Amino acid sequence: MMLVISVVLGIVPLLGVAWIVLHGNIGTVDGLFMSLILLPLSGILFLNAFLDMRGRLKARTGTKTAASPLANRTITAPGIETAPQLPHHKVKIKKAGQRACNEKNEKGKFCGGHLKRWFYSVDLIEQDCGDAEQAWGLDAEVYRCEHCKTLYLPHPGESVVNVAGQGQISVFGLTVPPKAS
Ligand SMILES: [Zn+2]
Repeated sequence: MMLVISVVLGIVPLLGVAWIVLHGNIGTVDGLFMSLILLPLSGILFLNAFLDMRGRLKARTGTKTAASPLANRTITAPGIETAPQLPHHKVKIKKAGQRACNEKNEKGKFCGGHLKRWFYSVDLIEQDCGDAEQAWGLDAEVYRCEHCKTLYLPHPGESVVNVAGQGQISVFGLTVPPKAS
């Protein structure tokens, strides 16, 4: 609605300018100043219409891309994502770049154990248990704390590069290349 009003009100000053030009009054001081007032008026209204239209187009494309895979994931608290638990293991989701376990022990201290890639399908103890293989298939990317054995699923944004993880960007803006495996 705003769009139509803006366009119509934008055309009216232009008609006024056309009328002045047609009657040959553009050469007079009156006609010249009237045109100078009317032209910015119509400019502002057309700009308003243009911004309104652009906003609508953006809103339309926005709703299309909103259906990301994370949209239907249940998030209990902002920033904390929960992973589906296994019957015999505690499962967490790794934060971006996380390399150490942040599980708290019974004294409330952080575990700090190293997170290592865990190949559960060749793990003899896990072969007896089997719930990891049942939940994730034969060789999903899973990490395990070498201390408290908490399992970590990879961060959704992190790609599988190598076991050592991605090289971190240094303060000088240089990326340290990951070690060749
Ligand atoms: Zn741990």
